[in-house]
Amino acid sequence: MAERAQKATLMAAAGRNGSLQTVAEVIGEEAIPVVQYLKGKRNISEFKIAESIRAEVNSVRKMLYAMQTNNLVSYYRKKDRQKGWYISYWTLNDPGFGHLAVATKKHKLQQLKERLHKEEVNHGLFYICSGLCVRLEFDRAADISFKCPECGSTLLHQDNSKTIEQLRQKIGELESEKSKPGQR
Ligand SMILES: [Zn+2]
Repeated sequence: MAERAQKATLMAAAGRNGSLQTVAEVIGEEAIPVVQYLKGKRNISEFKIAESIRAEVNSVRKMLYAMQTNNLVSYYRKKDRQKGWYISYWTLNDPGFGHLAVATKKHKLQQLKERLHKEEVNHGLFYICSGLCVRLEFDRAADISFKCPECGSTLLHQDNSKTIEQLRQKIGELESEKSKPGQR
């Protein structure tokens, strides 16, 4: 219950903020507290981060490395004299958030456009199982005599005009969306 409430809060925060949303999408929702905690701080050890957001050091480390791969954080390692092992100290890389948001949006747009293209060239040529097992283009549906390979039901013609319309709308929305680099 508490976990669900916390998740809802995280998603609400992510919804209000483009960069947090990108972090949630690319790294995972669980990385949002790390970003929120590191905001405005510099060179914080992974132990301190883990303690502050009440998470396991190993899972925090995993998130930090995933963020580092996406250029969202930088770190340096220093040997701890007393403990004798290396500790990493982390800082957010502010421009990285804008770049990742732009790259993610570009990738999403590309996928939507590919999907739209596939729907457009097969406009009116999709066949779908009434049990929703499969959705096939005309040629492939004809090859199997319009029988669902999973359940044997007759495949029904599906008008994909609405799908095309929805994809176009989504693409239009994404394209007109102003990206705000650096916002977090
Ligand atoms: Zn079926």
